Amino acid sequence: MLKNVPSLQRLVDQLRRIPFLASRNLYRVAAYFLEVNDQEVDQLCAVLREVRANVRRCAVCYSWAEKDSLCIVCAAPQRDKTTICVVETWHDLCAIERAGVFRGVYHVLGGSLCPLEGIGPNDLFIAPLLARVQNDVREVIFATNPTPEGEATASYIAAKITSSDITISRIASGLSTGSTLEYTDSVTIHKAISGRRQF
Ligand SMILES: [Zn+2]
Repeated sequence: MLKNVPSLQRLVDQLRRIPFLASRNLYRVAAYFLEVNDQEVDQLCAVLREVRANVRRCAVCYSWAEKDSLCIVCAAPQRDKTTICVVETWHDLCAIERAGVFRGVYHVLGGSLCPLEGIGPNDLFIAPLLARVQNDVREVIFATNPTPEGEATASYIAAKITSSDITISRIASGLSTGSTLEYTDSVTIHKAISGRRQF
C-alpha cells in the first residue's frame, strides 16, 4: 500500500524503530505528521535536538537533568539526602514522585540485571550507588520492579551494602508481581512505600 509513496514508507519505517510505539498506532502517527502544519513539525524537530543536546544524567542520582546541573530532586534542599530510593528507571522515579509520598532522594540504576540479555552489574549504575551509600546515608529503599529481574537486582545490591548503620528496605508488596511501577497507581505506590519492610 505504501509502495507508491516511498517517503511515507520511510516515515513509517522510522517510527517502527521507536520502542513502545504500538504498531497499530504507526499509521496514525504518520498521518498526524502529514496533517499538521510545518511549524508543528519544525517545533518537534527543534525540541528533539534540544533535548539531545541539553539533557544529561544527574551526576548524583543518574536521573535526567539539564546539562551541568543536578536534577530537580538532588538540587532541592528540603529533600532528605540520607534516604535513597533505588529505582530501575527515570519513569519509575516519576511514578513515585507523582504519588507524592517520598521525601528522600533517588538513585536510578538504568535497568535491572538480566544475564540472559547480557546485562550485568557493570551495565547499570550500581558502583556509583555503592559509593554514595558510604556518605551519611541512613536508609536505602529498593523500589525495583516486582519482576524476577527487579528482585534479583535488589538482592544483589543489598548484599553489597555491608554497613550495619544503614537500614535496607524493600517496598511492600501490593504491587502485583510482574507489574512495573510506571503503570501502578499513586495510592498503591503510597502504600508500597509507607509499608516497606526491612530486607
Ligand atoms: Zn539527581
